[in-house]
Formats: sequence, structure tokens, C-alpha cells
Amino acid sequence: MTETADVVIIGSGIVGSSVAYHLAQGGCTNVLVIEREAHQGKGSTGKSMGGVRAQFSTPVNIQMSRYSIDFFSRFDEVVGHPADYRAHGYLFCATNEKHLAYLKANRIRQMAFGVTNVEWVSPAEISAMVPQLRTNDILGGTFCPTDGFVDPHSVMMGFMLNARERGARLWLDTQVTGIQVDAGSADVSSALRGPRSDSKRSADETSALPALEARRIAGVMTSRGLVSTRVVVNAAGAWAAEVAKMAGAELPVEPLRRQLVPTEPFDQLPQRFPMVIDMSTGFHFRREGKGILLAWNDPEETAGFKTEFDPTFVEKILTHAASRVPCLAEAGVNPRRAWAGLYEMTPDHHAIIGQSPNVKGLYFVNGFSGHGVMHSPASGRITADLILRGHSDLIDTSQLGVERFAEGRFLEETAIL
Ligand SMILES: Cc1cc2nc3c(=O)[nH]c(=O)nc-3n(C[C@H](O)[C@H](O)[C@H](O)COP(=O)(O)OP(=O)(O)OC[C@H]3O[C@@H](n4cnc5c(N)ncnc54)[C@H](O)[C@@H]3O)c2cc1C
Repeated sequence: MTETADVVIIGSGIVGSSVAYHLAQGGCTNVLVIEREAHQGKGSTGKSMGGVRAQFSTPVNIQMSRYSIDFFSRFDEVVGHPADYRAHGYLFCATNEKHLAYLKANRIRQMAFGVTNVEWVSPAEISAMVPQLRTNDILGGTFCPTDGFVDPHSVMMGFMLNARERGARLWLDTQVTGIQVDAGSADVSSALRGPRSDSKRSADETSALPALEARRIAGVMTSRGLVSTRVVVNAAGAWAAEVAKMAGAELPVEPLRRQLVPTEPFDQLPQRFPMVIDMSTGFHFRREGKGILLAWNDPEETAGFKTEFDPTFVEKILTHAASRVPCLAEAGVNPRRAWAGLYEMTPDHHAIIGQSPNVKGLYFVNGFSGHGVMHSPASGRITADLILRGHSDLIDTSQLGVERFAEGRFLEETAIL
């Protein structure tokens, strides 16, 4: 017998899990999440640094972070599982006038979008927060005390466990191998939605002309057999373009390797300090247990499914680390404990969220470009809103549709870590 589901979610990482949770919250529980791995978190979610911040430069990222950080602060109570949200802050350190101006402009925009607690900090205040920093070339910076970290694995499990408690199903060890699409003109997800006022109706629903060109989702082929469904959510992370292609849709999402290096136990830095970002190089670091977690975006990295750690990266990152934090020159590093994962990059470094313009019933929630953990609450909520109600009050979702690339409406975020 063919399996059926109201919604099939492809990928059980933090994003797919959040979509399942938000659909269940909205009363849609006949949801099937399909994951090819034997365990959740084997994609990018399990590789993440867990950073969450509202200090962005574009309104849409600021809005998504603001909603998400508030959600993380209530996660344990609302979801019933721990997020391990630690509000230790993010401290951006500027070493030239251009970066100072950039931080100042961002702060104004952040305040305009409701993030009112970003503080301007002097070199002396930066020194007081992390005395081990070399500050002789630092001109100033910004600090937001509600930025910080979560445990990505715990958040993902919390979302999924809650969704499953409400009836959602999770198939592990199951590969999606194809997506069935057939010709049709109906707005396939309208069956899942309640009645709406005329002012909220989409062009599709109000058009007198049937959309003869529209193709629509009919089902998903998997290693366990066919699943019949009218709605598919692509939450396949760095593999999202391959999944979109199964439905004949184009999705500009490319994998880009990111590498993290943990130090051995290190007590020469405080037990608690913010994520520190050296804007002169992009080097950033935070405490992780007894050691320090070091991160740096290598500008020489090229796109591709590369998930092996490159041992030559250790020397590069330690050079930046020791330059900004001289005592880190004494930190021990075991390259075998370092790891690599994939960012899922879009051309404008912003997520793609919304229904495919060419395949009705196919929803994208992809391309987080390094921010998928921190934006998981907002992206799950927006996707569930779009499926169940056809619109979301959280943000202007037209900004994030995949159509923006063909239409030349790029969003440019420059604060990428
Ligand atoms: C080193 C590193 C550090 C990072 N640091 C941060 C950070 O500090 N803050 C932050 O917000 N973000 C960070 N990120 C980014 C973040 O981890 C990702 O944006 C986020 O995890 C994406 O979640 P996801 O659920 O979309 O993808 P994933 O977690 O990759 O999940 C996708 C899932 O889809 C499954 N899948 C794919 N294709 C198929 C198929 N055909 N059939 C069945 N299943 C399939 C995969 O197996 C995978 O489990 C970091 C990423 C890396 C690599």
C-alpha cells in the first residue's frame, strides 16, 4: 500500500525539524520527515558552531534573528526540551574606519528593527571583557549581550521530539530518490489551509485563468517506496539543489566547506566571554567546554562537497589566533579533533524560503549561508505559515523567494562569519 502524508519534509536537520515542529503546532500532524542517514544531525547541523546573533546588516536577517533569539530564550519551556541557550554575547572588534562606520550603520538599522541592546564599546571596555586580546589597533566595537550560543543538536532533537509527540513521523535510513510532479492548475496547498479573507488571497487563488503551466507535486520516491503527498518541503541543507532538481526546479545553493579547530583544555582565557570577532581577518573564537573553539573563513576555499578536514588549515588559523590573542600561541591543538562541514551558500548569502514558482506544492527552506542554526525557529515558523495559511506575518516573505535571483532583486549581507 502506498504511504500518504499531508506534508513530506526531506531532511531532518535543525531546519527540517523546526518545520515539522511548527506544522504540528499549527495543527498539521500528518507529516513525514525523511532522512537518509541512520541518525539526525549528520549534515551541517552536527558540525555547527552554534552561534546565534542579531548583529546583522540587513532588515530581513535582523528580523529573523530577533524572532529566533527570543524563541531560544523560551525554548526549554515552550518546546519542552533544552536548547542550552547561553547569552554570552557577540563582540565585534573594528580595526579601521571602514569597519567602524559599518558597525555604526548596522547598529542604527538593528535598533530600527527592534534590537535595541547593541552597545557601542571602546577599546578599554573591550580589554575589560577579554583582557588577553591585543587591542593596540582596535578602534572600537559593538557588543550585544543577548547574542550567544545554543546546542544545535539539542535544538534539533527538541523540535523533532515535540513534533513526534504530536504525531509527526520520522523515517531514518531512507533516501529520497525522486519527486513525482504532474501537470495541474490547482493551488495544491490550499487544501491544508483554512478560509482566508479576500485581502490575503494570493494571485493564484484569485486568478480567473487556470495556471495551465503550473506543475504540481504528486509524491516522493524513496528507498522505502512511494509516498503520496501534495506538499514537499526541501530541507536538504547543502544537498538542496540536488533535491530541487528531482522536481525539475532550479535552486542556486552551493556547498562551501567550513572548518573548526578546538584547542585542548586552555585556562589562560576567562571561563565565560563572548564570541569575539576580529574584523581585520574574520577570525573568531569562543569557549567550548574546557577549550577554545577557533573559526576562520578561508577566502581560498572553493565550492564543492568537501567534508574532510584539511590539516594545513591548523597553521593558517593559529597564525590569526596568535596575532589577536597572543596567549593562544601556547594552546595545544590536535588536528584529529578538528572538523569540517558544509555551509549552504546562495548568491546573495540569504536564505531561500517559499514555494517554488514552477512546481506548486514544493517549498524551499534552504541556503542559510552559515546561519541555519540561528534562524531555524524563524524559518520553520515562516515555512509552516506559508504552507498552512499562504502567508506569514513574521517577515515580508517576498524578499526570500527564489524568484529574486531571476528578477535581479539580490539581498546583500556583508556580515558573514
Ligand atoms: C563548521 C560550521 C559552522 C557553522 N556555524 C554556525 C553557527 O555558528 N551558527 C549558525 O546559525 N549556523 C552555523 N552553521 C550553519 C548551519 O550548521 C546550517 O546552516 C544548518 O545546520 C542547516 O541546517 P539544515 O537542517 O538545513 O541542513 P542539514 O543539517 O545539513 O540537514 C539536511 C539533511 O538532509 C538530509 N538529506 C539530504 N538529501 C537527502 C535525500 N535525498 N534524502 C533524504 N535525506 C536527505 C541530510 O542527510 C541532512 O541530514 C555552521 C555550519 C558549519 C559547517
